[in-house]
Amino acid sequence: MKRYLITGASRGIGRAIAEKLAGAGHTLLLHGRDRDALAKTCRAVEAKTGLAISLCYDLRDAGAVEKMIDEIGPKPLDALINNAGVALVKPLDQITLQEWQTIFAVNVTAPFLLTQRLLPMMTSGASIVNILSVAAKTGFPSWSAYCMSKFALEGFSQSVREEVRSRGIRVLNIYPAATNTEIWNAVEGEWPREQMMLPEEIGDAVAYALSRPAEVAVENIDLTNLTGRL
Ligand code: NAP
Repeated sequence: MKRYLITGASRGIGRAIAEKLAGAGHTLLLHGRDRDALAKTCRAVEAKTGLAISLCYDLRDAGAVEKMIDEIGPKPLDALINNAGVALVKPLDQITLQEWQTIFAVNVTAPFLLTQRLLPMMTSGASIVNILSVAAKTGFPSWSAYCMSKFALEGFSQSVREEVRSRGIRVLNIYPAATNTEIWNAVEGEWPREQMMLPEEIGDAVAYALSRPAEVAVENIDLTNLTGRL
């Protein structure tokens, strides 16, 4: 039986990952801020014969991340899935320092702290999964803050991968294109939701990678709409 931590599991891609990993008596540590939404994910996990533990913390606050790490405790962890993230789409001259700091705190500082502090609980065969984006490899107009945060996480992830390889710990980077979740509610403009991927695609990719034998590392997964336009 495995013990997995998923950040941002209260909705969207994080909830889809939780539902795909649930079952077989696994323990899922499910993080989010919205208690009611997180409780819904917990019920879905428990319906599949697993244990769900909810962790409500605001990742903008490094002190809250430290408290969350304390609550997680020293038991072995089979996977840390850094999924929680926020988007910001604005021309460069309109981005405030506070918006920039929020993007960086949630998308970069929180994965940094969680990875650094939880690595001691991970042994050979364990995995770190980082939910990146096509925006970790390509820049788009008005996405500068978001792209910078994802490029930063990409560099961190690639470096940590090489640091932990000799310990048998795997680092998986997933690069989804546009996926139909609530993250788009806060993004200005018209976006063709019906053409976007479903979050379950990312859930399936994570489940596939984690189910490989310990000596096999699925290191990078690109998930793109076939039209290539989203
Ligand atoms: P979403 O539906 O908006 O969900 C975001 C999750 O992150 C929620 O569970 C939310 O928790 C959590 N979160 C946001 N701010 C937080 C904060 N300050 N403290 C704690 N938790 C916070 O977004 P999504 O589309 O599933 O995105 C998940 C990941 O996939 C993100 O890293 C995103 O960058 C990446 N991604 C998304 C797409 C896409 O098109 N959807 C494409 C590529 C990559 P609460 O709601 O409980 O606050």
